[in-house]
Amino acid sequence: MYAKNVWKDASKEKNESIFSFNEDYKAFLTNAKTERMATKEAVALAEKNGFKNLADVKSVKPGDKIYTVNKDKNFLAVIIGRKSIEEGMRVLGAHIDSPRLDIKQNPLTEKGGLAYFETHYYGGIKKYQWVTTPLAIHGVVYKKDGSHVDVAIGEDPTDPVFGVTDLLIHLSADQMSKPLAKAIEGEDLDINVGSIPAKGEKEESVKKFVTGLLKEKYGMEEEDFLSSELVAVPAGPARDYGLDRSMVAGYGHDDKVCAYTSLRAVLDQKDVPEFASVVVLVDKEEVGSIGATGAQSAWFENTVAELLALEGKESNLAVRHAMANTKMLSSDVSCAVDPLYASVNEPHNSCYFGKGLVFNKYTGARGKSGCNDAMPEFLAFVRKAMDENEIHYQTSEIGKVDAGGGGTIAYILGNYNMYVLDAGVPVLSMHAPMELVSKADVYEAYLGYKAFLLA
Ligand code: MN
Ligand code: MN
Repeated sequence: MYAKNVWKDASKEKNESIFSFNEDYKAFLTNAKTERMATKEAVALAEKNGFKNLADVKSVKPGDKIYTVNKDKNFLAVIIGRKSIEEGMRVLGAHIDSPRLDIKQNPLTEKGGLAYFETHYYGGIKKYQWVTTPLAIHGVVYKKDGSHVDVAIGEDPTDPVFGVTDLLIHLSADQMSKPLAKAIEGEDLDINVGSIPAKGEKEESVKKFVTGLLKEKYGMEEEDFLSSELVAVPAGPARDYGLDRSMVAGYGHDDKVCAYTSLRAVLDQKDVPEFASVVVLVDKEEVGSIGATGAQSAWFENTVAELLALEGKESNLAVRHAMANTKMLSSDVSCAVDPLYASVNEPHNSCYFGKGLVFNKYTGARGKSGCNDAMPEFLAFVRKAMDENEIHYQTSEIGKVDAGGGGTIAYILGNYNMYVLDAGVPVLSMHAPMELVSKADVYEAYLGYKAFLLA
């Protein structure tokens, strides 16, 4: 059903399903603030649904449910189909990293009697949005003996939170006259972490008090920050939004909303599919999909090779056939029309809250630069699957032709010569500490992804 409002058509039962599915989604989003946390959540859900770790699997048959993890930051789950993987898969691919403030490798400084963590922002942020908002710190610290400690501070209501201060309005005459991009400098996004001086210390006594706490709580020395990966993200749970509770406010909808709906589409599938149903969750999309855990990593291809080997097919050619025969939805969020800023969109080719799953034939910038321009025959295939299953869907571009642009992982998988189409949930305030989605679109994306897997 193209471009129709989900709420207007929804039966009482469907309404209930929309709200109850979003309760599960809010719980996931609250616990999946980083790619590591999202991977952990995905593993727990997969195991609960009877998926077995690939490392423990010796052979495969249709209907088998398998998952695997890469370096604690990528996740893949598959239901083996009736056909060999060599004949292609149905893949849902989403990313689980989101914009945030990364803690630097030498983070601790003391200025004016306050201790700070220096940060380096990750992904595209509007810096002014990240001051005076409560932040939590998550991540890992690896020690030279190979052991590591997990860090999570700021989510429990009894935990302390952190933050970046902003200049008081009374003294902001100079700051307020600067353009938004310049008003807050990246190097000034320092997180305040303490103010008590250590007794008997003359120099950097506040910093020393903090290092004492780190030693006491985590058994870590200051130098252990060198092998840490700590990130600051907005603190607190995802919540209902609006008097009618029709929306979800939270950090990291981009792209955990597509990750979760894609994951559930595979985990909840009861039928043995014709083609293997796959969900793959990757890292580093917000910084270019590069490296061992980004979509450009050989990991996905290697995993396909492992699965084919379990079918008794060990040739490189089988891997190439499998990739080229695959159909994929690149599950990533889309920019919903914001009526307060409507001038950046062309209304006939934009997506709206409440109208369901969004297909972007292309993304990119300027003359579609960097986009995966999906093939029309694949769009027809997807439309048919949506209409046969009465899925509400809409289409979109990223704003007006010359307004800006962006990209997804679509083109990377497209490089394997598979059919790929961008498909996701419309988001308002994308990349802000608090993003919004419509509950109707979240549920419709889940249903649409399910329909695609069996198409
Ligand atoms: Mn995204
Ligand atoms: Mn993004």
